[in-house]
Amino acid sequence: MRCNFFLSGALLLFIAGINQVSIAQSTRSGPKIRTIIVDAGHGGTDAGARGTYSTEAEITLKLSVKLDEILRRELPETRIVMTRKTDIFHNVREKAKIANDQKGDLFVCVHVNAAMPIKHKEFSHFKTVTYYKGKGKSRKKYTRKEPVYRYWTTPNPMHGTSTYVFAADRADEKASGLLNEERYESEAEIVDVPDPKSTEALIAARLWSQKFFKNSVKLGTLIEDEFINIGRKSQGVLQRNHKGIWVLQATNMPAVLIETGFITDKEEEDYLNSEEGQNELVRAIANGVIKYKQQIESRQSTRSDSSATSKKSTPSPVPEKQKSVQKPVAVMPASKKRN
Ligand SMILES: [Zn+2]
Repeated sequence: MRCNFFLSGALLLFIAGINQVSIAQSTRSGPKIRTIIVDAGHGGTDAGARGTYSTEAEITLKLSVKLDEILRRELPETRIVMTRKTDIFHNVREKAKIANDQKGDLFVCVHVNAAMPIKHKEFSHFKTVTYYKGKGKSRKKYTRKEPVYRYWTTPNPMHGTSTYVFAADRADEKASGLLNEERYESEAEIVDVPDPKSTEALIAARLWSQKFFKNSVKLGTLIEDEFINIGRKSQGVLQRNHKGIWVLQATNMPAVLIETGFITDKEEEDYLNSEEGQNELVRAIANGVIKYKQQIESRQSTRSDSSATSKKSTPSPVPEKQKSVQKPVAVMPASKKRN
């Protein structure tokens, strides 16, 4: 009898112990986004796109340092890891490795875009061209008029933002034909990157998509919405599959690549280099990231709340913010699609 009493006492203590553990776990299970990777595009030998007086690599570093500061300040419990803090070069494989080794929950890649100058051609005048026909005595001189054209370029007025998400099944010729126009890619970004159309790469990309595509679009949409709020022209979230964004699906986490503006547009180059412009852009990105984190985590805590305690119940079944995310994702314009 005494022995039984002792045993049941021990059992009670044991159960109490389990309860404590499970309570501790349920409160700890809140933050799902523990580590955010901030990747400053290009760097070192890879300057990225060039403007008239600045380079992409300089701007992405400044933006990323500022983004790191805001996120550290406003998400004190989240670890923020930068892939580079100085002007050094990593190839995209190294960047993905850093993100994965650091066990990131989110990969935020900061870039600056560039657009090719616009080529113009205009008729100038006719010139007289002399030519000969026949041989020996029958050789005769002829002349004909040929048009002369004037060629020149003007800066491309493309401006504004876009956020790229890797979409496994966009590996068609049409898409790749469009890429050079729409996004600046440096040689370093695409060298040594597997062909996205290869079977091996497609399988890997599809696996990534199943796990992370939806949340990547969610994050991209939140960031682009923030850009619109500060008055930036937004091309929205672009789903692509090309070498230049290969790094996104090489990370083991939702990932976006943000083109913050066009360095080839005079006004935007100034904006991207200004303290005010950088602060505005980074504020918008941080807002998007923070909203994403809140949405992901509130969804999780709603689930664990219903099974665990009644103390911390969430009143609304669908948070208001979540509804706005369900917007259709911007795809390439119809005119370009036909090419
Ligand atoms: Zn870039």
